[in-house]
Amino acid sequence: MNYVSTRGGMAPQAFSDILLEGLAPDGGLAVPQALPRIDAATLESWRGLAYADLAFEVLSRFVSDIAPEDLRRLTRAAYQPSSFKSADIVPLKPLDGSMALLGLSEGPTLAFKDMAMQFLGQAFEYVLGKRGATLNILGATSGDTGSAAEYALRGKKGVAVFMLSPHGRMSAFQRAQMYSLQDHNIYNIAVRGVFDQAQDIVKTLAGDLEFKSHMRLGAVNSINWARIAAQVVYYFWGWLRATRGPGQQVSFTVPSGNFGNILSGHIARSMGLPVRRLVLATNENNVLEEFFRTGVYSPRGPEQTYATSSPSMDISRASNFERFVYDLVGQDGNRVKALWAQMVKTGRFDLSAERPRFESEFGFVAGKSSHADRLDTIRSTFESKGVLMDPHTADGVTVAARYVESGIPMLVLETALPAKFSETIQQAIGRPAPVPPELAGLEALPQRVQVMDCDANRVREFLEKHAKF
Ligand SMILES: *Cc1c(COP(=O)(O)O)cnc(C)c1O
Repeated sequence: MNYVSTRGGMAPQAFSDILLEGLAPDGGLAVPQALPRIDAATLESWRGLAYADLAFEVLSRFVSDIAPEDLRRLTRAAYQPSSFKSADIVPLKPLDGSMALLGLSEGPTLAFKDMAMQFLGQAFEYVLGKRGATLNILGATSGDTGSAAEYALRGKKGVAVFMLSPHGRMSAFQRAQMYSLQDHNIYNIAVRGVFDQAQDIVKTLAGDLEFKSHMRLGAVNSINWARIAAQVVYYFWGWLRATRGPGQQVSFTVPSGNFGNILSGHIARSMGLPVRRLVLATNENNVLEEFFRTGVYSPRGPEQTYATSSPSMDISRASNFERFVYDLVGQDGNRVKALWAQMVKTGRFDLSAERPRFESEFGFVAGKSSHADRLDTIRSTFESKGVLMDPHTADGVTVAARYVESGIPMLVLETALPAKFSETIQQAIGRPAPVPPELAGLEALPQRVQVMDCDANRVREFLEKHAKF
């Protein structure tokens, strides 16, 4: 199994090589040369597997340069019950009728990002160890990605993490989660600015190729293929839990921002998993919903990107979307290259001629949700079922309700636990979300964070002083 670029300009590379890289050299994203297919008999033989062993089965189809016994060790370390609040790792939580939540937020930072990052942490340490190499991860976060990366990489050999966050703009809980880490290889840098400015600093420093290679900079952002592959596993898991036999269909609804999570669903479906629909849910930032409704992709600038109560989906330029478009245009790298060139020139591209295929061939439909919808869904589900959900998951449940079909399980991906976004929970039900007992004292712990001006040179100096070699 080798990987090529969505823009056709990269010689085939092995999994371990693309694991440590960001964008392909031609500006595209790494994708498998050919997807593995899973037939019905193989799928049935996986019913009894624990999550970690299912992860091994799925990931071994994507990873051909790590010995199977090593890969199995890595998946067992990543998905050990002691790191997750549920013994199942990913529990199914029934709602109304055929609807259920797929519980992806039982990991250390209470958001689904842990599902991929826990594996990435193991894989990074393993590959760096084999190569005798070190890596300094530089990233920017508005909350969930940064904490998931830090918890996955804390104390790992050969790697240090430098995570920029916007000073004073994350929830108290998110700040406490990140800044209370005392591990010697974790550096939190709060910059006086907004997330986009922090992200620009990362782009500036990683774009300085001499600095990048001298400092051994790496990334864990959402375009990393290993993250996509690790997320494919829970679509298989959800299907196996919601069905009893071969060929039964399941629909999934996915609260979406960067198109990473739902892309993994598209990959699982393309591998042969019997998925009926992939329902994409957005909040008021509905660039993707607009695309699936009209066929026109027209990303928006920061000034038209609203700050909403499901903030992890406040994204108007979905970095993983290119991988879906690659499949949509028949894996023609030149066509993808031309579309993105056109977007740079005119701000949009138009695939409305392909629109009928979105659902008929790929199962995609979409919907959007508002602040009022979110509060309504949180309140009504809590009152009728006693189930409390976070605002992102509520966007999913709101949109999923429009696509429920009798006899077909509808799994809504639970992308965070309510404790992470308690302000909105308070607004919806009049009291804060319960905090898991082991995290009760989190906000009182001492915090370790460097506050600095939003200036690439200050971050550069900090890296030069603290990077690992
Ligand atoms: C990251 C995130 C999302 C969006 O996921 P994408 O893979 O970017 O589409 C949704 N909800 C929460 C809570 C998140 O942290």
